[in-house]
Amino acid sequence: MLVLIVTANKGLTHDRNQASARYLANEAVMVSVGSHKVLFDPFFSETFGIYQKIPDPMLSDIEAATPPYDDIDLIVISHAHADHFDATRVLAYLIAHPSTHVVGPQQAIAAIRKIQAGGKSHIQLHEVSLQIGQAAVQLQVNALTIDAVRIPHAGWPSRAEVENLVFRVSLAQGDHIFPEQITVMHMGDADADIDHFLPHRQHWQSKTTHLVFPPYWFFASAEGRDILQSVVQARQQIGVHVPVEIPMSLQQGTEDFFSQPGEVRIIDVGAAK
Ligand SMILES: [Zn+2]
Repeated sequence: MLVLIVTANKGLTHDRNQASARYLANEAVMVSVGSHKVLFDPFFSETFGIYQKIPDPMLSDIEAATPPYDDIDLIVISHAHADHFDATRVLAYLIAHPSTHVVGPQQAIAAIRKIQAGGKSHIQLHEVSLQIGQAAVQLQVNALTIDAVRIPHAGWPSRAEVENLVFRVSLAQGDHIFPEQITVMHMGDADADIDHFLPHRQHWQSKTTHLVFPPYWFFASAEGRDILQSVVQARQQIGVHVPVEIPMSLQQGTEDFFSQPGEVRIIDVGAAK
């Protein structure tokens, strides 16, 4: 009977013995490992008529921190484009949930600070300021280890001014359920050119990435697949930023991708290196 109950709950609530990734929409995902939760690119206002929007009831639950969206440790912002980031919504969230931290590129954090001007609320912002080609930076937010590398936005060399960050976040180090760190990587709108990635190969290979979320165009080119295979080397990969009208190449391919808000994948948490 117990088994039946557990099975019925799968996908609806987060089991604290599990590490999972839940799709919200576009490049918005929630990663849960034990009692730790991270939201990537969760608040945005624009879909350009192409991408998924977070369904209103789900967005209300996220904003109200209704389970499973409760106790969020960290919000990660990949870059300050309107289909990934809405400063007003992020600020409103931080004011309502002051224990949640935010990390993002200087361009996004500055946008939040600008509208916060004069506000007395205590919000926890962490700004990453990186030039293209600069070595990775690392920061620690409570139990989370975060590192970031600036990789140009897709369409390089146009949009070179956009601070697009590839974030790697390690959760739950030394937990009794998860004795190893569980590490996930979010790539924002990274450009699938291996020349951007090779200088950081050593950094990314210094620890096991359990799960990476590449924008779907990485699956559509041989070079993108090569970056994932030879540089990122994650154990599991789930494509994101998938248009509502799913490209034929994804439909016919064998790569895993998120396309329905609310979809959940279990992260394989076998021993790390
Ligand atoms: Zn973008």
